[in-house]
Amino acid sequence: MRPMFSYFSNQTIKMRFQLWIVVVIVTLTLSIIVPFYFIEQKDRLDEAENQLKQVITLQSLYIERWNQEKLDTIKRFAVSDHAKFHQIGDLKREFQDYSRVNSECLSIAYVEKDGFIRSDADPNISYYVGDRQYFKQALEKKSFVSGVIISKDSGKPVITFSAPVLGDHNDFKGAVLGIVTLEMLNSLMKQLSFGDTGEVYVLDSEGNIVTASNDTSKSEEFVNVPMKTEIMQRAKTGSTSNDSYIGFRGERVYGQYKWSTGKSWVVVGEITQREVFQNLNQLSIAIIIISLVALILSIGAAVTIASRIERPIRYLLRGTKIIQNGNYDYQIDADKIRMAPIELRMLVNTFNLMSDKLKANISLLEHSALVDQLTEIPNRRYMMQEGNKQLQACIAAGHMCSVMMFDIDHFKKINDTYGHLVGDRVLHHVASILQRLSGTDTIVARYGGEEFILLAMRKNAQESVSLAEDLIRHIMEEPYTDEQVTVKLTASIGIAEYSPTLEFGTMVLEDMVSRADHALYRAKSGGRNRVELDR
Ligand code: GH3
Ligand code: MG
Ligand code: MG
Repeated sequence: MRPMFSYFSNQTIKMRFQLWIVVVIVTLTLSIIVPFYFIEQKDRLDEAENQLKQVITLQSLYIERWNQEKLDTIKRFAVSDHAKFHQIGDLKREFQDYSRVNSECLSIAYVEKDGFIRSDADPNISYYVGDRQYFKQALEKKSFVSGVIISKDSGKPVITFSAPVLGDHNDFKGAVLGIVTLEMLNSLMKQLSFGDTGEVYVLDSEGNIVTASNDTSKSEEFVNVPMKTEIMQRAKTGSTSNDSYIGFRGERVYGQYKWSTGKSWVVVGEITQREVFQNLNQLSIAIIIISLVALILSIGAAVTIASRIERPIRYLLRGTKIIQNGNYDYQIDADKIRMAPIELRMLVNTFNLMSDKLKANISLLEHSALVDQLTEIPNRRYMMQEGNKQLQACIAAGHMCSVMMFDIDHFKKINDTYGHLVGDRVLHHVASILQRLSGTDTIVARYGGEEFILLAMRKNAQESVSLAEDLIRHIMEEPYTDEQVTVKLTASIGIAEYSPTLEFGTMVLEDMVSRADHALYRAKSGGRNRVELDR
């Protein structure tokens, strides 16, 4: 279950498209092929069944007529005067006349009362047929059509027709016997084969094959062989089943049977399953091939559609990664996804707008991270980043620079006297004086509490001292005032000039701040409201 799940969860859009197309086409194909196959199969079966029924009906009709005709001929001879009055010589002449006119291989013989057939040429040569069923039937004064029997005379399979010869007093005088070889029936049957494998058999009531429509030489070996296939069982039980079964040639077949009147024959028609469904399978294969072609074309289309969708998504994915890496103003080139669906183009536009906004917000954040909220001048972090950079550039350019640490005197007292709110406003007031007077070459930042730091570029110690004194004077001259209070102020400043040899730490700015701090300490302890230079 788990590998299966991970297979699906790791699929790309393209793979999913392909998978779904395969599923859709295969389902479509199956939903066409399966009903088609079953409907068509049923049609074919019905058609084959109808054809079989037609053929065997025709055949049995024909055989019935053929039988009846032969039997009628024999009966006619049996009731003729020559027979009645035992004028055997005349009767045999009549037989010969008939045989001459009728080309069918019907040979007619007279069976004596004692069951012997005597040869015309030599009356001493005779065959005894008294044990034959036709003779026994004749004895009972019944006419009879035999199944296929092996002729005593020729040893060939034959059918016999017999009729009793009765005297005026209805007494048994002998029998007229007609013998027909199967060749006659065989040649008629051959005209009845249909399709490539369809054939018709005639079986006697015992299930022996009398004749078959297919290939005489082959069918002869089956003649007088009991039919052991299922069709004979069906015929015997009167079953109407249409299922296929193994035919006597060993192939699966569909078959129909029809009994003759009197049930002395059964006509069977069979056709192989292979032939019934022959081009059905070809048609199914054609549908499958068409579906495969459709599948290949659809997958091609799916790949195109998927790539139209996948491309912008890939750009978006890359864009988000670039933004993740800190490049907040990254924009996706909208020209590259002109062919993408509208929703994705909108998504890309939104992405671009978002990255614009993100960039603006990030700059705002960066700005506020470097500006002191209370005094609205740069903070200590700004001084340590930007101040340090500018200091390095200033030193590299060969200019002198100095750091001033500025601290309001007795600020705690201001807080204590006027409250923290006034203290805050005083800090803002002082910061604006410092910024106003410092000029562009000096960075002013709030260092913390009531301490400010000034980084004076291009100023040596002396120039810095004079700026610092200027500042102190202005702080004194410009007290903080509002509607309620006026707060007089003084401040102390410690100054350190750049020196290539570091006393404190490893960073130039840190070293200068530390030294300026020391100077400030001296200014404080020296009475405040003054400037001290580090030395
Ligand atoms: P000195 O002359 O020695 O500098 O004395 P001072 O009172 O100025 O110095 P001290 O370090 O003793 O006190 C600094 C005071 O500044 C303490 C603190 O309450 C106050 N302070 C620091 N940050 C702020 C602020 O943001 N607002 C206000 N209102 N007060 C602050
Ligand atoms: Mg202080
Ligand atoms: Mg102070």
